[in-house]
Amino acid sequence: MTAQSDYAALVQQGLSLDLTRGKPSPRQLDLSDALFRLPTSYRAADGTDGRNYGNLQGLAELRELFAPLIQVPAGQIVVGGNASLALMHDTIVHALLTPMPGAARRWVEEPEITFLCPVPGYDRHFTICERFGIKMVPVPMNADGPDMDVVERLVAEDASVKGIWCVPKYSNPSGIVYSDETVRRLAAMPAAAPDFRIFWDNAYAVHHLTDTPAELADLLALSAAQGDADRVFVYASTSKVTLAGSGVSFFGSSPANVEWFLRNTAKQSIGPDKINQLRHVEFLRDGAGVAAHMRRHAELIGPKFELVDKVLTEQLGGLATWTSPKGGYFISLDVPHAAEVVAKAKAAGIALTPAGATHPYGDDPADRTIRIAPTYPELAELEQAINGLAVCVRLVAEEHA
Ligand code: PLP
Repeated sequence: MTAQSDYAALVQQGLSLDLTRGKPSPRQLDLSDALFRLPTSYRAADGTDGRNYGNLQGLAELRELFAPLIQVPAGQIVVGGNASLALMHDTIVHALLTPMPGAARRWVEEPEITFLCPVPGYDRHFTICERFGIKMVPVPMNADGPDMDVVERLVAEDASVKGIWCVPKYSNPSGIVYSDETVRRLAAMPAAAPDFRIFWDNAYAVHHLTDTPAELADLLALSAAQGDADRVFVYASTSKVTLAGSGVSFFGSSPANVEWFLRNTAKQSIGPDKINQLRHVEFLRDGAGVAAHMRRHAELIGPKFELVDKVLTEQLGGLATWTSPKGGYFISLDVPHAAEVVAKAKAAGIALTPAGATHPYGDDPADRTIRIAPTYPELAELEQAINGLAVCVRLVAEEHA
């Protein structure tokens, strides 16, 4: 059968499938049903009444539980609401409006602010930058993290470079893990801007798909050893541990940055939702509790990653390349004429993240990368969607032959 007749048959099926966002499936959310019966007490370990205002930094027991998992000392963690993305967004707002430790002035007073964006990367990082007029400079991503020769040069030479976005473990969308050498170089590189910051979005810190979890070097500790702990902002959340809409998030950094962050957030809030924090402590208990819970997630989504790999191997060997992540939520598929493939898929009822979304300004100069989010659909639907996607890749290849 030609790709053209396969495509005609695909369109005939009248599918309506969605591979766009990396959402947990309902069955994954069911794993956390016990949360609805918790907490059993509104008292925190130190006697705090969780029902009331106060404790802007978040409960110590929750910070202690996550400290080793996100590689930040408990005293240097702030617990946020359900969205770590909001913490990232607000960090930039604070930097625009209030000088950070080490900064000569507020970022709004800078003639230009530049962020380095390893590509492919996470579209929502880019939309935060776009919102605030922060210039984005793409940096190629290798199998062990961003191209550090490029990063070191730009950070050392250009004082407008104030930030870099990093998803260091099971990266979105490629699933790669930063090597020890990459992390060491990020900690050690000289920066022209005294207020240069690494936005270390460790969204998938505990989201392993195999029994051999990836190890990530401790950027905050390495930077502190170099005398510059201030350069690191760590973010994480339980969005894909417990409930994406009702989890807890974390900001971690040096003591000076945490003081700066809390001073600013004190103007926004009189205190976080400590009942939800208590609920999470009772439910997850400790590091072993988190690991056991994440294994249950892996049992549900591991087969989905395997299925995508199997279908792509059967259908597209030689026509495309893709990643086989050991954790996280995404697979990155590289094909010729990605935008056309996405358009063909859409016309056949298969929604994919827009081509280019993995690059700043939506501009993938090679028109190559498609992000696949396999977690939400059940296996049968996923199989239909990836088979359909493969037909679209073959059709576009045939049209350009
Ligand atoms: N960071 C990365 C790299 C993500 O992939 C996602 C969600 O897909 C988020 C952050 C969003 O996290 P949160 O739900 O804590 O806002």
